[in-house]
Amino acid sequence: MNQSVSPNPAAKRAVVIGAGFGGLALAIRLQAGGYQTTLLEKRDKPGGRAYVYEDEGFTFDAGPTVITDPSSLEELFSLAGKNIADYVELLPVAPFYRLCWEDAPPFDYVNDQAELDRQIHARNPADVDGYRRFLEYSKAVFREGYLKLGSVPFLSFRDMIQAGPQLMRLQAWRSVYSMVSRFIQDPHLRQVFSFHSLLVGGNPFATSSIYTLIHALEREWGVWFPRGGTGALVQGMVKLFEDIGGKVELNAPVARIDIQQDRARAVVLEDGRQFPLDAVASNADVVHTYAKLMGQHPRGQRQARSLRRKRFSMSLFVLYFGLRRVPENLQHHTVCFGPRYRELIQEIFSQDTLSEDFSLYLHAPCVTDPSLAPPGCSAHYVLAPVPHLGHAPLDWSVEGPRYRDRILDYLEEHYIPGLRADLVTSRFFTPEDFRDELNAHLGSAFSLEPILTQSAWFRPHNRDREISNLYIVGAGTHPGAGVPGVIGSAKATAGLMLAEVNA
Ligand SMILES: Cc1cc2nc3c(=O)[nH]c(=O)nc-3n(C[C@H](O)[C@H](O)[C@H](O)COP(=O)(O)OP(=O)(O)OC[C@H]3O[C@@H](n4cnc5c(N)ncnc54)[C@H](O)[C@@H]3O)c2cc1C
Repeated sequence: MNQSVSPNPAAKRAVVIGAGFGGLALAIRLQAGGYQTTLLEKRDKPGGRAYVYEDEGFTFDAGPTVITDPSSLEELFSLAGKNIADYVELLPVAPFYRLCWEDAPPFDYVNDQAELDRQIHARNPADVDGYRRFLEYSKAVFREGYLKLGSVPFLSFRDMIQAGPQLMRLQAWRSVYSMVSRFIQDPHLRQVFSFHSLLVGGNPFATSSIYTLIHALEREWGVWFPRGGTGALVQGMVKLFEDIGGKVELNAPVARIDIQQDRARAVVLEDGRQFPLDAVASNADVVHTYAKLMGQHPRGQRQARSLRRKRFSMSLFVLYFGLRRVPENLQHHTVCFGPRYRELIQEIFSQDTLSEDFSLYLHAPCVTDPSLAPPGCSAHYVLAPVPHLGHAPLDWSVEGPRYRDRILDYLEEHYIPGLRADLVTSRFFTPEDFRDELNAHLGSAFSLEPILTQSAWFRPHNRDREISNLYIVGAGTHPGAGVPGVIGSAKATAGLMLAEVNA
């Protein structure tokens, strides 16, 4: 039931720009904590990268599909005095993923130690013990990097120095792949336990071994999928926010943040509407925030120049398609490794063209929830990591249809025989769409690349250094991309903003 809550006229006013997971989670925390909060979103639906397409009876989640750390979501509902179960149902996914190769049998990554041991043993008996030691390492990083530091802001270099000894002890300067390789010998198993950083935009050969924590996080809390799709979780969060009195404005692109005497005073929409405020947080892309929304102020110009020099994560090509049948033998999440691993990833992070081969992630959500397609049909998406527009400034209006056809051919040959004959609908999203629809710098899918020198204190801070009532939330600030990451960023940013409102 939608209970309307009257606004408190004495409450301080907060504006959150952008309704991605980070913006939504922050808006809920602020509204529950005493700010009268308005959430402004440029698109016609909330969710950001978790947008939803509905075509011919099929429901396609545009982005995140692997939902982990349900406790961080439950916390949002409970701090607003509600129960998550009244808003959205989370269904367990098993196996977590199926990993497939062209030249080896598949590996089902499950949350069952005996079954994992059996599959690892079948590939390389020595890796059974190696995996256990890797899991212990991953758990130690998880405790330090996620539980302790994942939702606290790094505002001063002192915070970084304090975390230093632990980061050194965990050998955070090593890459994910090099750390996995210290424990595991089999080349395919090295892929199984190192690909995770790609899910948050990190190159496993360059990103800090801190990101091995994702493995322990999944083993600890499982992999989930909302009934009705990730979009149902977004809708649940929007309803929660509105139930406690928050205001959402869709189709509301922000043109600028008005700053006077180093304080943000109002947010101005492209149609000229103004929202006066006591505090503002941007969930929009960090370069867009500083270069465009604050481009009239010297702070915006300086910070944008500095950010443009940083390294950004790769982009993605995402192809959504509906079939008039349910393919056999697909799991909910499949990672389809191509013939090359290291070389292909290096190309994705640096090359100016598309590689001949690809590695794909294939989503088959009807395995968990058949309601996402008409009876007897199935909804899917397949994504390929591709270079961002800074490396490969391709014309995607030409490249997109070609790339779609190459991917469909590959899927038809290796995973879904007869795919094209049963295709009902399809659409795709390219790096240019990340740039134009989401205002993402260079069309990056995950914002700044999560390397050690762009993490924690080195990442744009949760509160701006000079404009003291301007805050950042989402993938571009600490701790970084991924749904648990941006939900953690909302906790870190809300802590700072609520300290201000309660001062
Ligand atoms: C295809 C894909 C698959 C993914 N899969 C997973 C997964 O399985 N699991 C996982 O944990 N993570 C996954 N991720 C990563 C995860 O989705 C993102 O890191 C996360 O959702 C980003 O959230 P965010 O809060 O930073 O905001 P975003 O989702 O980036 O939203 C920002 C919002 O700001 C809005 N905006 C921008 N400019 C303006 C403006 N001027 N005015 C108003 N609004 C504006 C945008 O329209 C957008 O709605 C995936 C990402 C992609 C792209």
